[in-house]
Amino acid sequence: MKVRFWGVRGSYPVPGPDTNRYGGNTSCVEVRTESGTHIIIDAGTGLRKLGKEMMQGAFGEAGGTSHLLVSHTHWDHIQGLPFFAPIYAKGNKFFVYARQRDDTHLRAVFASQTDSPYFPVPFDNVQADVAFRELVEGARFEIGPVKVSCTRLNHPWIAMAYRLDCDGGSVCYVTDTAPFKDILIEQEYIRQPPKPGDPLKPEDAAKLKAMRDGVVRLCEGADLVIYDTQFTPEEYAAKPHWGHSCPEDAIEIARAAGAKSVALFHHAPERTDDQIDALLAYHRKDTPDLDLVAAAEGMELTVGNGVK
Ligand SMILES: [Zn+2]
Ligand SMILES: [Zn+2]
Repeated sequence: MKVRFWGVRGSYPVPGPDTNRYGGNTSCVEVRTESGTHIIIDAGTGLRKLGKEMMQGAFGEAGGTSHLLVSHTHWDHIQGLPFFAPIYAKGNKFFVYARQRDDTHLRAVFASQTDSPYFPVPFDNVQADVAFRELVEGARFEIGPVKVSCTRLNHPWIAMAYRLDCDGGSVCYVTDTAPFKDILIEQEYIRQPPKPGDPLKPEDAAKLKAMRDGVVRLCEGADLVIYDTQFTPEEYAAKPHWGHSCPEDAIEIARAAGAKSVALFHHAPERTDDQIDALLAYHRKDTPDLDLVAAAEGMELTVGNGVK
């Protein structure tokens, strides 16, 4: 599999001289298998440029098929979709997967994104064939030759982590999530976060343990784990209820799972390229057992067998 990063930021896009090297677009990762199966994970603003490239090939001739796995529908993970050229071409096929909500069908969640007065082009103008597949937590399914599994994360309104196994390799996508230790972030945004040292209710501690076990299991022996590392420990301490982790958490989970490499991902919008360099260098010193990289727009990694 080839894994290519098109957007690596969290929260909102940040173009500019301080973010040119790692890139300013929000979350979007492309996975291509040896046999040509095409998967996109998250539809942040990085998706726009990926769409332009896809239009140079089969999608430009209205004969492409792709599968979009969505971690959750916060803006930074869906904002690229209205600007994704291949969905406006009749003949292209898309399958969109995300966690099932109790109240709103997945199609309605996406369609409302472009409702008036937010956007001039309603979702009904989409010409491609788009099928929505709602997932339950822990679902396992296949996309062509790719085995997909998922588990829930500790994030407002819940995000899903995915694992893809194919071509003798495995890649996990674990964003957005708080660590599984101090605070359980249930459905709604927590307005009064616990203070440092506040005790955790036993039932919340049990849920967090189950969630952590699920993530460790998902990442077991993975070749590459792409992980939410938006915060430094100081930033996390100030905003535990925002639902994001630190590089320390990514490394701890990867080690517990026996994963081989970690890509720091969902970089804080305010983090400059030089600060990301420094964070990476700092953590590499203590991780001789892991291949640690910081995800950057345009970076392409091979997992298992590559694409011929
Ligand atoms: Zn996010
Ligand atoms: Zn989020």
